[in-house]
Amino acid sequence: MPGPEEIKSSIDAFVEKSSKRLGEIWENPELAYEEVIAHDTLCAILEENGFQVTRHAHGLDTSFEASFGSRGRLMIFCAEYDALPDIGHACGHNLIGVASMTAFLALASVLKATGQPGRIKILGTPAEEHGGGKLDLLKAGAFDGADAALMSHPMPHHYYHDKHGSVGAAGARLVAKHSKLAEYKGRTAHPAANPWDGVNALDAVVAGYNNVSLMRQQMHPAQRVHCAIIDAPKRTNIIAGQTAVSWQCRSPKMDDLRKLTERLCSCLHAGALATGCQLDLKDESAYSDLLLNDTLCGLYQDHMARYSQNVLKADPEYIQASTDFGDVSYALPAIHAMFCIPVKEKGVVTHHWSFTEAAGTDVAFQICLTVGKCLALSAWDLLSDDRKYEAAVADWKNARCE
Ligand SMILES: [Zn+2]
Ligand SMILES: [Zn+2]
Repeated sequence: MPGPEEIKSSIDAFVEKSSKRLGEIWENPELAYEEVIAHDTLCAILEENGFQVTRHAHGLDTSFEASFGSRGRLMIFCAEYDALPDIGHACGHNLIGVASMTAFLALASVLKATGQPGRIKILGTPAEEHGGGKLDLLKAGAFDGADAALMSHPMPHHYYHDKHGSVGAAGARLVAKHSKLAEYKGRTAHPAANPWDGVNALDAVVAGYNNVSLMRQQMHPAQRVHCAIIDAPKRTNIIAGQTAVSWQCRSPKMDDLRKLTERLCSCLHAGALATGCQLDLKDESAYSDLLLNDTLCGLYQDHMARYSQNVLKADPEYIQASTDFGDVSYALPAIHAMFCIPVKEKGVVTHHWSFTEAAGTDVAFQICLTVGKCLALSAWDLLSDDRKYEAAVADWKNARCE
């Protein structure tokens, strides 16, 4: 087991050289698939630390990867860095990048110092908030041949502290999500002179929306349906000939999500039928629920305890949020730890300005360094201990069958 001192020296150098530039990722929030500054910054830091980096990896402009080690099992650290429109890094993905960079650099230095077999990779995973970069990367083979994948995500301090007296959770139950794009076609007409000749695509949106509102009364409390109208009429003197709505359904597991999505589609078809509009329903991204890995969660929890950080092994409740890492957790043993950062405004979860502010503080940055070290130590366990690795694989197989 590498001691804290072995890990500390590599991280100190990384922090000293790179913390200001990592802060620039927070100052320059970039949307899904457009994370150019984040991509270039993280690649440059890796290159300055002596790693050969593949920029624009796996056919994605803002993905990258760097590796270390030539034999043994392969661990992948996923670095996210995309932001949200208008509210910046309100999900704190800049911090995910910092924690995974820390983990990769720390473990590379340990492998170098010990000469132990083991391969590690840092993978830049763009577009978590919209589109699902990890789904693209899975399809492109970025996770092929890997033995485990690791990452972490920030949450507000009160989320775990108030309920559990802890500063995070090694295992989080994130729900499955399916996104659908509903495009309506009607026929334009003058709304006063000859409204009877129009087919109103705005009415189709309203009818579909109301049908979904009625459906909510018969939905399970753990399920969600929500939408954004993305193409709506801008003028009152034209009957709308075209509209579009992006819908998302969420449910703890994929099976129930499929049923909920079918019910959503019925609501939307009914709206189109009632108004005489054509409806074109397209699949957007679908994220699987997140599988827990008991072994990996236990390792991370123990390592956080070594740094005096009390985290739950697994949050017993579902978090009403989803991640494209869910699909990764079905493809190979994986951990998506949640860590807390201080937030000024109580009651705030994420996707709010208060969380954006919190994700840019030095204290949040420092917390990421500890989290990164513990991800590195958890990966080290799987690289160096056959029994722990086999237990993680057994957990993964069991969780997939549940
Ligand atoms: Zn988010
Ligand atoms: Zn997020």
